[in-house]
Amino acid sequence: MSFSTLGLTAALQKAVSDAGFTEPYPIQQMAIPPILAGKDVLGVAQTGSGKTASYALPVIQLVQRMPETRNRHIKALVLVPTRELAVQVEEVFFQFSKSLPQKVKSMPVFGGVSINPQMMKLNGVEILVATPGRLLDLLDHKALHLSDVKLLVLDEADKMLNLGFKEEMTRIFGMLPYIRQNLLFSATLGKEVNTITEMLLRDPVKVEVQEAVQNLDIIQQIAYSVEDSRKGPLLRYLIKEQNMQQVLVFTSSIHRAEAVVQKLVANKIDAESIHSKRSQGARTDALQDFKSGRLRVLVATDIMSRGIDIPFLPFVINYELPRSPKDYIHRIGRTGRAENPGEAIALVSKEEEHHFGVIQKKMKRKVVLKPTTEIDLKGY
Ligand code: AMP
Repeated sequence: MSFSTLGLTAALQKAVSDAGFTEPYPIQQMAIPPILAGKDVLGVAQTGSGKTASYALPVIQLVQRMPETRNRHIKALVLVPTRELAVQVEEVFFQFSKSLPQKVKSMPVFGGVSINPQMMKLNGVEILVATPGRLLDLLDHKALHLSDVKLLVLDEADKMLNLGFKEEMTRIFGMLPYIRQNLLFSATLGKEVNTITEMLLRDPVKVEVQEAVQNLDIIQQIAYSVEDSRKGPLLRYLIKEQNMQQVLVFTSSIHRAEAVVQKLVANKIDAESIHSKRSQGARTDALQDFKSGRLRVLVATDIMSRGIDIPFLPFVINYELPRSPKDYIHRIGRTGRAENPGEAIALVSKEEEHHFGVIQKKMKRKVVLKPTTEIDLKGY
């Protein structure tokens, strides 16, 4: 199957191949044709499935065909739960649009930063990628208008509901024109998502790809049995010994994330943390530096893991195990994207061994615990 069979324009096909995509992922094969045909779509897919391009490509094409609107009257609205996702999703729109003869202007907006620069940049924007709270602020300021929106995308609808955005979402839906096309993507379908689905979608085409479990086959999983007090030195030992250059480390608390970073830096390993207590600017910078390879180690808490989308991430290290096996699968899904094998390493203390057993059962994979008592960690 090639991108040429999906109904995309020649210019978009070229943009796709410039991005290095040779074949469409299953979600793209299934979602692009009905979206181009103007249908509502319900996509059940996780980060890593290629879901962003599955709607970004046809949305660009549809927006190109829409009639001109007045300034600050956007044509397509993409709602996302987090600031990180807003930035990343807009990057995908930008990447595909930048070399088109007929460009479409997109922009991300999110809270936690000052609103004025965003208000100023909204001129001529056609596709807006927004978190719900900031979108409402901008609407209150009359900095933009939704009356010409013909396309609505809800990305990670389940996360949006988990974060308590239901009221904001309902307010936003109420401001949209009645006739429009709706696309809803969610990693899971539950009662709450179904309510939104029923409220929004008209006779939707349902496209579903398997859980991220399929990814697990291309991830090399390694686990070390290690005393809690030796986790820090072991982490530094592994990074140095294996000369790891791009490592994502997960901890279960902000406090621990900070402590891990401090020790890494003290040991001359360039590291930064990303968690909800850091300012938006610091988070964006850290993520950007990490993505571009300038920052060697990024230490994150779970909340942040959803938004981190980096192709070819070679190493993910679980400094501590998350409570939920689902989160574990999600964390290690950051590596081994597409056909690029990655390594997922877990540092497992005695107290965590039982829980690690539960995680293995849930992901239907066995991971042998390697002993570490023999490793000399002096000096690390
Ligand atoms: P997503 O699920 O949208 O977060 O995408 C996951 C990753 O897969 C991103 O890094 C994309 O750049 C990459 N990707 C998406 N579609 C394709 C494709 N058809 N071929 C190769 N890589 C892709």
